[in-house]
Amino acid sequence: MRAEAAGALMDGRALAGKIRGRVAGEVFKLKEAGIVPGLTVVLVGDDPASAAYVSSKAKACEEAGMHGVTLRLPASTSQPELESTIERLNGDPRVHGILVQMPLPKGIDSEVVLRLIDPAKDVDGFHPVNVGKLLIGERDGFVPCTPAGVMELLREYRVRTSGANAVVIGRSNIVGKPMTALLIQPGTDATVTVCHSRTADLAAHTREADIIVAAAGRAGLLTGDMVKPGAVVVDVGVNRVDDPTRPRGYRLIGDVDFESVRDVASLITPVPGGVGPMTIAMLLSNTLLAARRSVDRT
Ligand code: NAP
Repeated sequence: MRAEAAGALMDGRALAGKIRGRVAGEVFKLKEAGIVPGLTVVLVGDDPASAAYVSSKAKACEEAGMHGVTLRLPASTSQPELESTIERLNGDPRVHGILVQMPLPKGIDSEVVLRLIDPAKDVDGFHPVNVGKLLIGERDGFVPCTPAGVMELLREYRVRTSGANAVVIGRSNIVGKPMTALLIQPGTDATVTVCHSRTADLAAHTREADIIVAAAGRAGLLTGDMVKPGAVVVDVGVNRVDDPTRPRGYRLIGDVDFESVRDVASLITPVPGGVGPMTIAMLLSNTLLAARRSVDRT
């Protein structure tokens, strides 16, 4: 592992700012060539957390000079209506990226919807074609934004991954599994253990890890006594906990008990300000990539 002062922060906000600046520069060049990268985010229903995510994505698009559109559909939208919306977006040349905000209301089959998105516009990287490309190491797909953001953080902070023992906590399709696929790719070369809710002794695994990526959605799951001194700890978790001192009545914390883990880790991401901003930066980066590829295809 690299030598680093104990508990140094991996600043996702700063790195995301750099990436967004780079993307904006590339968007400017594409616009001069007559192409405006476009992302359409589809929001079905009025879940407040989803609405907040969607508006931050739309704002980020605008700031990067992209054409960001949010399609707000009522919670009563039927499966066929949503499917025909996706088909229309697939056929619209101004739309380079399509993102359907999850979760979808009950009664809508999200797997069917995700499979309907043109893989060339699937900037979330959730379509089975893109999942498969990631797994077999083909680079012409899209990598899901959150694990892609984690990889950027590891690169930025020069974390040695080759031969490192990595533990990924969580096996979801959007974080845990793609994170694992990225860490084991030739070139990254980590040895990965994937833990989940049925893992018998989580701490026994995490204590052996040089790199831990926590993505369980369990506040404070990883504590300092579960971490090897000098390990690099990336906290993907976002959990709401009541906090009457805050105007909103809650605050967001990660899966990592920050104070105790910071004492033993060499590098650690904060929540907020770690992985979250990176996810949005990678979404913009994927949308730019989709726009560039659409130019190459014509
Ligand atoms: P998810 O679909 O609920 O998956 C959680 C995973 O964690 C599951 O595989 C689950 O195991 C595992 N798990 C739950 N409790 C555990 C425990 N006590 N010990 C070990 N493993 C446990 O969640 P997700 O969508 O992957 O998201 C994970 C977290 O990341 C959430 O807090 C989410 O809000 C956050 N997130 C953040 C960003 C960002 O941009 N910062 C993006 C995406 C997600 P089973 O499979 O056995 O149930």
